[in-house]
Amino acid sequence: MSELLAIMTLQEIDDALDALRTTLAAAQEQLEGDPELAAAREERESIAAELESIRKSQRTLEATIQDLDAKIVRDEGRMYDGSIKTPRDLEALQHEVDNIRASRSQAEDEALEVIARAEELSQRLEAASASVATLEKAWKATATRLKAEVVAVNTKIVAQEAEREAQVGRITPGNVRLYDGLRKRKGSKVVVRAGGNSCAGCRVAIPEPVRRRVINSPTLVQCPHCERILAPG
Ligand SMILES: [Zn+2]
Repeated sequence: MSELLAIMTLQEIDDALDALRTTLAAAQEQLEGDPELAAAREERESIAAELESIRKSQRTLEATIQDLDAKIVRDEGRMYDGSIKTPRDLEALQHEVDNIRASRSQAEDEALEVIARAEELSQRLEAASASVATLEKAWKATATRLKAEVVAVNTKIVAQEAEREAQVGRITPGNVRLYDGLRKRKGSKVVVRAGGNSCAGCRVAIPEPVRRRVINSPTLVQCPHCERILAPG
């Protein structure tokens, strides 16, 4: 009976160890990073890239407008400097200037659109950056808490492992092997109650002679169906 109780205590220690290892794994996985922060950073990068491309378009349009202005100045200068001799040539030049002015007007409209879009993107970038900053601050606090949790849980695991070793020392080696083997195959429920008429592990009915041995036998009794160790109850 005391052997059975010792194994039940070992099972409690192992259950506690499993719970601690689950907590540790969850904390370590969380420490790998905040998905919300990663998404916010990605959004910020995407807006920044679009803004850069829009500003490039803006610079190109501004350069185009400057070129057209220079052409207008040049052509208008030619109109009045006396270098054009015939009314027909003058008319042709005037026509060219009109065309350049139309192109300039179109480029200016495009530039205004691009500037408005850049302004909108700037505002979105500012909002996205603020959101990243907020999430970074929260993440820093979370990471600090998680790191402390990992240290604390690791300490508890070390203590539980020492306790397990001590408990194993109180049990016959053959029974430790039986228990360990069952735990590997069955998971956490290795020692189960044989209350009522069935095994609490597999729910299969326990034959009367086995039930009697569970109560009276000084050695461990296993369920004939699932092999779990049976405890009275
Ligand atoms: Zn069973």
